[in-house]
Amino acid sequence: MRIGVLGAGQLGRMLALAGYPLAKSFVFYDMSGNPSAEIGKTISDPEGTQLNDFLSQVDRVTYEFEHLPVEVAEKLAQEKTVHPSPRALQVCQNREAEKTLFGELGIPTPQWQIADSAESLKAAAEKLGCPVVAKSNTEGYDGKGQAVLKTPEEAEAAWASIGHPRLMVEKFVEFSREVSMIAVRAEDGQLAFYPMAENIHHEGILRYSIAPAPKLSPHIQQEAERYIKSLLNELEYVGVLTLELFETAHGLVANEMAPRVHNSGHWTLEGAMTSQFENHIRAISGHPLGSTEARGLSCMINIIGEHGDVERLLELPYAHMHLYNKGERAGRKLGHVNVLADSYAELAWRASNCVQFLPGSPEFSSSLNENDTQ
Ligand code: AMP
Repeated sequence: MRIGVLGAGQLGRMLALAGYPLAKSFVFYDMSGNPSAEIGKTISDPEGTQLNDFLSQVDRVTYEFEHLPVEVAEKLAQEKTVHPSPRALQVCQNREAEKTLFGELGIPTPQWQIADSAESLKAAAEKLGCPVVAKSNTEGYDGKGQAVLKTPEEAEAAWASIGHPRLMVEKFVEFSREVSMIAVRAEDGQLAFYPMAENIHHEGILRYSIAPAPKLSPHIQQEAERYIKSLLNELEYVGVLTLELFETAHGLVANEMAPRVHNSGHWTLEGAMTSQFENHIRAISGHPLGSTEARGLSCMINIIGEHGDVERLLELPYAHMHLYNKGERAGRKLGHVNVLADSYAELAWRASNCVQFLPGSPEFSSSLNENDTQ
C-alpha cells in the first residue's frame, strides 16, 4: 500500500520508519518548501500545483501536521481515503470549534469566551476573572500567538501583541501538571489507549514526557479514556488522536487536541509494545491495532536547538537516540532521546545523566523527586 503523507517533517519520517516493516511505501507532500523527512519520495509544492500528481501516486492519505487548508484535505478526500477525516482537521484548527465540541461531549474545559477586539478582550478578562490566557483562535501552536493577562488593563497591549482578529480567552487553570492521552481508533471502530504521559514544558516547548505518568490514579486514566473515546467516536476518527489535558485538584481539564501522532507519544517507540507511529499506520491502512501496553517506565527528552554531545549520548546503554536530520536553530526540535527504566528513581537518574550532554535542555525536573519515586 502506498501512503501519502501531507507534511514532510519528523513525524512523517517516524511514520514511514514504522510503516516500512509493514510493507508500506510513502510519498510526502510538502507545502513549506523545507521538507526534512528524507525517507521517501517528497513532492515539495509551496505553490500547491502538484496535488493531482501526489494523489496519482498514493492509495491512502494521512497527515503529520494540522495546519494545512481544510479545502486541500477535502479535495483529496473526494479522490482517495483520507484518515483522519477533514472534519477532525477542521475542529482541531479552530479553538472555538474544539472547545464547543468538548463542551457538547461533557469534557471539562477552562471557562472561555471569544474576543474580536481589544475592548471585548478586556470585557472577557473582567468577566472570567484574571489571570486569563488569550490565544489566537486559529493558526496557533506551541504557545505561539498567546498572552497571559494579569489584569484587564493589559488587554490593549495583549491584543496588539497577538495581532489576530479573533481570540480564544480562557480562564487560567491552576494545574498540578500537564498530561496527555494518546489513543487510536481503527477503521472498524476498535479502540486502544496508551498510558497517559506527564509533560514538562519550558519556554512553551515540550522538553520531557514521562510515561506512564508517575502517581497516576487509575481513575484519572479512565476519565481521560472516556473523554478521548467520545471524541474518537463522535468524529468517526481513524488513526491516532492526542488530547492534552491539565490535571487539577478537581480532575482533568482539556486544553486541546491534535489529530495526529504527538511529541508526547514519542516514548512509545521503545516504551510500548506498539508505537504510536505503527498504530497510526495500522489504523489508516485498515489493519487491526497493536497492543498499547507499556514495556516499563519511559522518559522522552527532546533535543531542542542544538544537538549536544551525540557521541556521549550514544555511549549510554539505556539511551535510544532519534535524530530528525535537521539543522540546528534556536527552539527547533532536532531529535529526542528515549530512556527506559524499571523504577521512577532509576528513570530520573538516567534522564538527568542524558541531560548533561544536552546543553540546550533545562535541568531535568518533573513530579518525580527523591521522596516519591518508589
Ligand atoms: P496551547 O497552545 O493551548 O497548548 O498552550 C500552550 C501552553 O500554555 C500549555 O501547554 C500550558 O502550559 C499553557 N496554557 C494554555 N492554556 C492555559 C490555561 N487556560 N491555563 C493555564 N495554562 C495554560
